[in-house]
Amino acid sequence: MKKNYENSLREIIKEYKLKPKKKLGQNFLHDKNIISSIVNKANVEDEDIIEIGPGPGILTESILKNKARSLLVIEKDDSFEVNLKKIKSNYRNNFDYLINDVIDFDFKKLTKKNYKFVSNLPYNISVPFILKLIKIRKIIPWKEMILMVQKEVAERITANISTKNYGRLSIMVNLNNDVEKLLNVKPSSFIPRPKVDSTVIKISPKKKYLNINTEVFEKIVKICFSQRRKKVKNNLDQLNINTISLLELSNIDPDIRAENIDIEGFIRISSNYEELIKENYEDF
Ligand code: SAM
Repeated sequence: MKKNYENSLREIIKEYKLKPKKKLGQNFLHDKNIISSIVNKANVEDEDIIEIGPGPGILTESILKNKARSLLVIEKDDSFEVNLKKIKSNYRNNFDYLINDVIDFDFKKLTKKNYKFVSNLPYNISVPFILKLIKIRKIIPWKEMILMVQKEVAERITANISTKNYGRLSIMVNLNNDVEKLLNVKPSSFIPRPKVDSTVIKISPKKKYLNINTEVFEKIVKICFSQRRKKVKNNLDQLNINTISLLELSNIDPDIRAENIDIEGFIRISSNYEELIKENYEDF
């Protein structure tokens, strides 16, 4: 008879005397349908996988049982180490773990390329984690990320232009990636139950990588959204340049708000801004 995940999760929590820590976003998945669905959609067979925050390891074991070529997990909470050691003793050849904060982790240390990330992310680090991975893609060309995040974060990432959720996060993630919502997950699928709904999303790099200056691009997007209700011209005035000519050059109406500018529009503004800055320096 198949073991019920909720029971086995409860057994692990009991055996290792685990007390879920709210500040580490410890809401553990026990719903076997959701776990299978995540692992199936991630197509883990023969892939090198990284899981952030394995916790009690239910998703972890499912990834291994589904024949991942290798699985590296990164967990901040060392109280899971005993359990992770046990998993390691069962899967010596293709499993390893690191006790580390993923936000500080230097991914350049990793030797393989084309990792797939499969994780039920802790809520408090989902946005910084995604932004970090997007930034380091030139150095660590990961293949795909299948991530459980708060529904509200998934909605911001997948928001369309001219909607209330459209903003810096949607633009930064969609600049070089395609994003797909895979499934919504109710609080009852976790122990303990979180207060909010969750969504599993898939982030995959676009075939054509836009080689733009992402630092300048990020700076422009941040300034344009600094006060959402203001006209883009007024926000950009912080730059102390001729904002009207920058926007004219970029074919953007100075009276619209940032939420009505598409990614191509932001690319035009940031590359024209870069040119303007260069020209001004050349004048000196
Ligand atoms: N993977 C397990 C599951 O699906 O049931 C646990 C997921 S739980 C939502 C998030 C996990 O991430 C916890 O085990 C937590 O300790 C870990 N975690 C929290 N902050 C972290 C960080 N900064 N770096 C690495 N792991 C972290």
